[in-house]
Amino acid sequence: MAGTTKGTSMQLHSVELWDGESDRGRVDLSWTRSGVDAVITAVTPTSNTAPTDTSGNGDAASAEGDAWAGLSIIPGLIDTHVHLLGKASDGHADFLGWPLVTRSEEQVLHGLSHAQRALRAGVTTLRDLSADEVQVSLRRALDAGIVEGPRLMVSGMVSMTAGHGDMFTPEAFPIRRQTADGPDECRKLVRHWARTGVDGIKIATSGGVLSTGDKASWRNYTREEIETIVDESHALGMLVAAHAHTEAGIQIALDTGCDSIEHGTFISAAQAAEAAVRGVSIAPTMLINEAIASRRVPVSDEQAQKASDVIVQRDGLMRAAAELGADFVLGTDANGYHVKFGDEMDELRLLAGVVGYSPERALQAATTRAALAIGRADDLGRLAPGFKADFLVMRGRPWENLDDLRVENIVAVVARGKVVAGSLPTA
Ligand SMILES: [Zn+2]
Repeated sequence: MAGTTKGTSMQLHSVELWDGESDRGRVDLSWTRSGVDAVITAVTPTSNTAPTDTSGNGDAASAEGDAWAGLSIIPGLIDTHVHLLGKASDGHADFLGWPLVTRSEEQVLHGLSHAQRALRAGVTTLRDLSADEVQVSLRRALDAGIVEGPRLMVSGMVSMTAGHGDMFTPEAFPIRRQTADGPDECRKLVRHWARTGVDGIKIATSGGVLSTGDKASWRNYTREEIETIVDESHALGMLVAAHAHTEAGIQIALDTGCDSIEHGTFISAAQAAEAAVRGVSIAPTMLINEAIASRRVPVSDEQAQKASDVIVQRDGLMRAAAELGADFVLGTDANGYHVKFGDEMDELRLLAGVVGYSPERALQAATTRAALAIGRADDLGRLAPGFKADFLVMRGRPWENLDDLRVENIVAVVARGKVVAGSLPTA
């Protein structure tokens, strides 16, 4: 049962596998490492063991002494919406102030710590949605194998003056991130991020919750500006993620061809149906609003009030949206402060409960559907030949019982074909 090394090839024999789509029963799983990455080479039904186990306890096909009894393999999770650069060490820090007074050389180490926490909690891919040069550097170091961590996808923010991205910097602070107003500046900022090496672009089409002086109800950008950003991003091979809370913000994101909706709080039934038809995913980032509204973390009165306003209507709208086929994917908005890195499984269970997803559909939202949302449907989120060898060994069968999907049930995390947390069971 143990993993055996054949040069750079590894195989697990007779393991229970859910592949990102469905239950494959008992299989032999093989992968090959080359350089710092690894690809699955074969998933074949185990010939000498009955693959069916409908008992739900995962041990019907296991011989006595089978170290894999009650265990299963699922793809590593993908969190499509995080913000890595926040204070990762213990102790108080001002959420908005810390990034302004901390050198980027120091911030990158905190970002790495956050990423590693997520990895140990079963998240093998993260997409940072307010990235700049720091996250690009971190991604390169991870891809080069210099440091260990999850895969990173990074999206650069294009924000208008007084937009959601801009309002994270208090108005009196002299050093500000670049903003873009008018189609020409928008196009130029997209090109700037492309040169920097980002994978995608993030915009806001409504205001937000955590930014100071900002209102979730505010319009962000005109139609012409958004059309320009989407046009230029797509021309340069980048997806556009649109932060939108309001119905107007969601509509303009759909109209202009944005690729994903972030938050999507006040989504209407018609918009849910339209998003489903267009293949636009929605990351509902539920935990963070819960944390802010309930004041589980220190927040300002303004922030708590805005979050409460946001969730009052949210749950009913999102459940209706799911029934109309809206494609909800795992996105936590983790920033290490309001939502911790490693809270992804909690977010997914909350999402499933609110929108009424089955355990299997919920797990797809964090694997195959999340991979599609970030433009990596061809090599992430699924355990099949040609896909990356990123997977989890779990106690239980989370695609049948989502309550099994908890960090404490992780037996091993395998990323880039290598065990990075826990250990593989051995006979
Ligand atoms: Zn966010």
